[in-house]
Amino acid sequence: MKIIVAPSAGFCFGVKRAVNMALDAAEQYKPSEKLITLGPIIHNPQVVKSLEDKGVFSIDDIETGGYNSILIRSHGVKAEVMQTLKSKGVRIIDATCPFVKKAQNYINEAALKGYFIIMVGDKNHPEVQSVISFANKERFLVINNLADLEKVPVNEKLALISQTTQDVNFYKQVIDEINKIAKDKAVVFDTICDATMIKQEESRIIASNVDVMLVVGGYNSANTNKLKNICREIQHNTYHIETENEVNPEWFRNAKSVGITAGASTPDWIIEKVLKKVHDIDEAGLKRFA
Ligand code: SF4
Repeated sequence: MKIIVAPSAGFCFGVKRAVNMALDAAEQYKPSEKLITLGPIIHNPQVVKSLEDKGVFSIDDIETGGYNSILIRSHGVKAEVMQTLKSKGVRIIDATCPFVKKAQNYINEAALKGYFIIMVGDKNHPEVQSVISFANKERFLVINNLADLEKVPVNEKLALISQTTQDVNFYKQVIDEINKIAKDKAVVFDTICDATMIKQEESRIIASNVDVMLVVGGYNSANTNKLKNICREIQHNTYHIETENEVNPEWFRNAKSVGITAGASTPDWIIEKVLKKVHDIDEAGLKRFA
């Protein structure tokens, strides 16, 4: 069986940076200063567990207390949460991805200029919540499908922005529709990050050329789910897995080729284990037919 692994599979720049910052901080402060992360550092249970083994735990609410240092993950936090943390005087280790920071700054600037903000993304995703918190509270809309465009106010100056992990093709569709509504006067921010675009493009190409596609990453990871949807549209034999233990030999019956891609929060060691499992399954099959 031919096995193709996407060159971009695994940690993106922002996640690598955040995980390294957490590990460095854990080394530096443990055990005298209690370090926590606000929410799991990335959407990957295996990585979260390995950080917990080093003494870095996660809390969901800053009022929980019991910490001296707090690490902000790559998704960033709401503007008001950052303000509260500053007023508490705790040490803030800000691992917000610079691409997310850029999106926050765009929104802030557009809101100050009186634009009504349309954000394309999942309103429950922490990155969207952090970015959109920089908009004027009454003057934004988060949309996730074309039907939501009905809610866009037609007489406003519109600014359009996207979650960094958005499907590029879907964002293009929304831009076209918004341009019709705003008669080409909308301000459009290009905020899908390079890492996302490269991953999506590679995954599309690989899915088009294999019999089975594996997408490796946390079930809660937005960018992994996007990759799964993109691949499944092209190759219905697409499977989303978190670890090698979920790989089912039955998936490869009659398959001549398999592709592997992975979300931005999937560590290399998990991708390697999945690759080895697929190799082992392939070898076992070859022996059976020898
Ligand atoms: S996917 Fe892009 S924006 Fe998100 S953390 Fe990675 S590099 Fe940053």
